[in-house]
Amino acid sequence: MSESTFNLSGGCHCGAVRYTMHAPPLSVQHCHCETCRKTSGSFYVTGGVVRRDMVEIEGAENLTKYRASITFEHQFCRTCGCYLFAYDDDETNLFYIAIPTLDGGVDPGHPRDMESHIYMGLRAEWEHVSDTIPHFEKNGPGEIITEIQRIEAE
Ligand SMILES: [Zn+2]
Ligand SMILES: [Zn+2]
Repeated sequence: MSESTFNLSGGCHCGAVRYTMHAPPLSVQHCHCETCRKTSGSFYVTGGVVRRDMVEIEGAENLTKYRASITFEHQFCRTCGCYLFAYDDDETNLFYIAIPTLDGGVDPGHPRDMESHIYMGLRAEWEHVSDTIPHFEKNGPGEIITEIQRIEAE
């Protein structure tokens, strides 16, 4: 399987938490909702949906956790505060990586038709997005809670 040779490394700014991905994300979402804005301090969070068994994490003991909702947990480096991972309790095979934390800003290699801006209806009123990636007012088809991704992850 070609996935076995795929290796991309990333981590937080201080280096306490490192990860290696052995497959590209199934999809990438740029989420503009208020939770993402307030947990990141940015207009949006870029999350890649990845299979858990395709990612190795080093330094996980240095992660601190924040529950943004009952089932949704964000994980940050407790030293430098970098937002690295998030997951939903209901998803056992998938989680999100804040994919811009890949070293050198490398392209994660996701399918280009599986990248979108989501929750654009909740974006900051002075944010202007002018790229050509699909925009959705609420959730998009590539989001974590889709049957397509559940099936692909099994
Ligand atoms: Zn750190
Ligand atoms: Zn969001």
